[in-house]
Amino acid sequence: MRLVEPILAFQAELETIRRDIHAHPELCYQEQRTADVVAARLQEWGIEVVRGLGVTGVVGIIKNGSSSRAIGLRADMDALPMQELNTFEHASRHAGKMHACGHDGHTTMLLGAAHYLSRNRNFDGTVYLIFQPAEEGGAGARRMMQDGLFDKFPMDAVYGLHNWPGLPAGTFGAIPGPMMASSNEFHLVVKGKGGHAAQPHRSVDPVMVAVQIAQGWQTIVSREKNPLDTAVLSITQIHAGSATNVIPDDAVMVGTVRTFSTEVLDLLERRMQETAAGIASAFNASVDFSFKRNYPPLVNHPEKTAFAVEAMRAVVGFDKVDTNVEPSMGAEDFAFMLQAKPGCYVFLGNGDGEHRAHGHGLGPCQLHNGSYDFNDQLLPIGASYWVRLVEMSLPPA
Ligand SMILES: [Zn+2]
Ligand SMILES: [Zn+2]
Repeated sequence: MRLVEPILAFQAELETIRRDIHAHPELCYQEQRTADVVAARLQEWGIEVVRGLGVTGVVGIIKNGSSSRAIGLRADMDALPMQELNTFEHASRHAGKMHACGHDGHTTMLLGAAHYLSRNRNFDGTVYLIFQPAEEGGAGARRMMQDGLFDKFPMDAVYGLHNWPGLPAGTFGAIPGPMMASSNEFHLVVKGKGGHAAQPHRSVDPVMVAVQIAQGWQTIVSREKNPLDTAVLSITQIHAGSATNVIPDDAVMVGTVRTFSTEVLDLLERRMQETAAGIASAFNASVDFSFKRNYPPLVNHPEKTAFAVEAMRAVVGFDKVDTNVEPSMGAEDFAFMLQAKPGCYVFLGNGDGEHRAHGHGLGPCQLHNGSYDFNDQLLPIGASYWVRLVEMSLPPA
């Protein structure tokens, strides 16, 4: 491990910042206090700050030398609408809100890099520090882009990072190509004809049609797409009826579809619609089907991934970077940034919870779990990675 020394010396302060943000979680597009904390620190360290992109987004700008090269480093700031089960000192002070995805840690690691880079300008070019809102479902990355992020701050590449429970603490992982899935949702209403449950011949039973559609859809995944392509189709809700002796008028099915490519997504969306309509028609029913694409697949650029791997190895050593790490069917709105700019998104191992002391909840230290907490030992590691990435991307003349 070759951490950046002055960042190690700053670790206690970073821990204080991280725990303060953890104690004051804010949801999508409401990250006012968090943005204030970020902006105040950046300004205190003499860094130019631009606010308001994506409502609460903050961009810090550090220029050095004369080169026109520039890179962007991105952290997310938002928390989740869930109850924290930890009872330690820095547990959430807001009922029903929690930093259960470690964005408090991401924000702090980028601040750690900012602090160092503001004092040690061993680079030639511009670093844009991007603190975005609303990763958890609100597409804050896209909102900042719509507000002109890449026009106002032209950059050659953009990089992101997420802590990753289950991967050993202090190790990194990244692969070229798709690393996180597209996230999409569907909503189906099967329209039948209600009636007496003892007289099915006088009705069109939407429950039986919904069951057949559910099976037909799983056949798209198992029989129609190439088995070498990845896809998940999960029906997460089925609603119909209100009595034991009444055939309802309609049945509703909703759920999620995940894929690693837009081609597979196109196939699934089209065939779900056709299968549902065809099965419904075979049984004299009809359907309303809608499909919403939320986040696209996150696709790492091969060259930038190889570059990021070098920067990670410079910090934690050759063996501590898993270049074959398992991709995730979860989704991440940094995918929008990677559609616009070359770059790479990496996992930083958060361990299995061995960092937790008194007062943690009884559940596992997993993302989106009420007993989760970010591992503070990662603060100097993530910040050192950002610094090495900057110094290697923008080498001094
Ligand atoms: Zn999350
Ligand atoms: Zn997250």
